[in-house]
Amino acid sequence: MSKLLVIGCGGVAGVAIAKCCQNSDVFTELCIASRTKSKCDAVKEKLQPTTSTVITTAQVDADSKEQLVQLIKAYQPDAVLNVALPYQDLTIMDACLECKVDYIDTANYEPENIDDPAWRAVYDKRCKEEGFSAYFDYSWQWAYKEKFEQAGIMALLGTGFDPGVTSVFSAYALKHYFDEIETIDILDCNGGDHGYPFATNFNPEINLREVSAPGSYWENGHWVEIPAMAIKREYDFPEVGMKDMYLLHHEEIESLAKNIPGVKRIRFFMTFGQSYLTHMKCLENVGMLSTKPINYEGKEIVPIQFLKALLPDPASLGPRTVGKTNIGCIFTGTKDGKKKTIYIYNVCDHQECYKEVGSQAISYTTGVPAMIGTALVITKQWQGKGVFNVEEFDPDPYMDMLNKFGLPWVVDENPATVE
Ligand code: NDP
Repeated sequence: MSKLLVIGCGGVAGVAIAKCCQNSDVFTELCIASRTKSKCDAVKEKLQPTTSTVITTAQVDADSKEQLVQLIKAYQPDAVLNVALPYQDLTIMDACLECKVDYIDTANYEPENIDDPAWRAVYDKRCKEEGFSAYFDYSWQWAYKEKFEQAGIMALLGTGFDPGVTSVFSAYALKHYFDEIETIDILDCNGGDHGYPFATNFNPEINLREVSAPGSYWENGHWVEIPAMAIKREYDFPEVGMKDMYLLHHEEIESLAKNIPGVKRIRFFMTFGQSYLTHMKCLENVGMLSTKPINYEGKEIVPIQFLKALLPDPASLGPRTVGKTNIGCIFTGTKDGKKKTIYIYNVCDHQECYKEVGSQAISYTTGVPAMIGTALVITKQWQGKGVFNVEEFDPDPYMDMLNKFGLPWVVDENPATVE
């Protein structure tokens, strides 16, 4: 018996909610609340006939702590799953603190306006101290640790695929395969084709910010930052084939560096085709990726938000995307004094996801782990007081649920490594 409040009703939320409805023994009641209530109503209409989970809907502006507190007090959930945007992480955490309700999300905080002087001052200081310049980082949410401890509640951060499953793979590798992990290479390959010249697989604003930023990796206790797309490698992905991939900064590097004892190097690579990169460079060069508002014919517009309005809605890519994703981690390290390398990965088929829940594999691979992390918190298989990343808990029940809920994984004990 449990009640879950889901905030946000986009691509990832659609899958997470569908998966909660497949797990109605755990999720007996669920409220979908988002900015646009009609989207919540449409999801309810589609799913209610298929499940015994009792679904309700509500309108909320998740930038307003007051509105969130009002909603949480009225609905009285056991936990809040934030699958809105990273911009709302802190207001939702504040509301959970006030109402003493557990909090779960899939992406770490970043501000909507990166020109805000108060945020900028903290950011500039962090860049100097830490040595990486991504706009998103864990410092804001980790700073809530004591407040969550005192309130006697928990926050589970980053239970998507990456971060999320890749972090759980790391905990699983450490628990079952290594005495010490030396290096982690996280490889995120999307071998899917949606047939458009250019589209992003999840929220364009978040996606384009991430991939146009400088890359960075963790080595020997510090960050090494490089220009965007400066390190390119090729990898032959099981069930997908040979792909170009580029080193990016990614948020789980930060938490794994903290939580995997003795790790010497952590890198993250994502595959991109040349056409995607050419489009992105061009949009960047003409200023379309800017988050700074400009005045156009008497109206203020933010270029990247205007671009988002022009691009295909990621939620609409499902029916036309074919091919597979392959996301996983290559670990090197030692076990019983011997060197060892393993690769743990999941392969997910875009069309299979579409047949099952009506969305492509990118939303699917994030929405399934969002449900799993939430289920483990709600059933108290994972519990604590404070703010946690997923690799801090026992990976075994999570790994079992990945197999059960559509993201089966493989352990290859003799993989090719990345130079
Ligand atoms: P979408 O843009 O598809 O959906 C976002 C949803 O949040 C929309 O329903 C939107 O409402 C709602 N929303 C936005 N602002 C507000 C607000 N102020 N108040 C209430 N609701 C709001 O994004 P995705 O589903 O693709 O992504 C969801 C989250 O998942 C993001 O945080 C993203 O970074 C994360 N993610 C994590 C991944 C991982 O592997 N860890 C991978 C992919 C995504 P409206 O419909 O009105 O616009």
